[in-house]
Amino acid sequence: MKFNFITLFPNLITPYFSDSILGKAVKNGIIEINCINPRNYTKQKHNKVDEYMIGGGAGLLMSAQPLCDTIDTLGDTHIIYLTPAGKKFNQNDAKRLSKLKNITFICGRYEGIDERVVESRVNEVFCIGDFILTGGELAAMSLCDAISRNIYGVLGNFNSLNIESFEGGVLEAPSFTKPNIFNGLLAPSAFLKGNHSIIFALKNHMALCKTRFFRPDLYQTLKSPKL
Ligand code: SAM
Repeated sequence: MKFNFITLFPNLITPYFSDSILGKAVKNGIIEINCINPRNYTKQKHNKVDEYMIGGGAGLLMSAQPLCDTIDTLGDTHIIYLTPAGKKFNQNDAKRLSKLKNITFICGRYEGIDERVVESRVNEVFCIGDFILTGGELAAMSLCDAISRNIYGVLGNFNSLNIESFEGGVLEAPSFTKPNIFNGLLAPSAFLKGNHSIIFALKNHMALCKTRFFRPDLYQTLKSPKL
């Protein structure tokens, strides 16, 4: 899978994908990260890529021409703009998008981008939460990370995806590691006895409890809550 990042700040992107699990995926050729700076395509004087807003308003906007000309060099690709106005990104989006071959993220800066880029070039718009970042790079990297781990070969154990939060609409059950007693707190005794069907049932129950407590919005959408 190839990921293109249209960004004024490629140096923010590349270090993240040169380390750890995603760094390995890049080295193994499972994912490819390509950063393109729209400044290289601008026709404005002094390599400018921004302008004041038509009709007034505080701040600058990324101009349409450098972005559209950059996009038009990319060929067949699914174009995503990161914006607070987009649909909130979720795990189902990550799974769906992991089936594609080529994705392009437009990372906005300043007050965002000229809306005509969205109208004429963008396939989907996504938000990563109800807050404002200074730029789209962090949001684009979050999507890229979440999408990548759903591509076969990126994770050491592909099956670990099946027990993660949001699978089946619930959060993952609480997890524990050694020692069995830490600062006087015990791991659940059933976990220590090795009866897998009991552990499985307990984990399901705890996952439901955790979802009801931390994410009542998710819990309400479950078809048959068991608690
Ligand atoms: N003026 C814009 C507004 O009020 O919607 C915010 C612009 S923000 C300072 C600059 C860029 O950061 C945006 O164009 C977008 O690419 C990115 N961004 C900021 N918050 C985001 C969020 N919650 N989700 C996705 N992208 C975001």
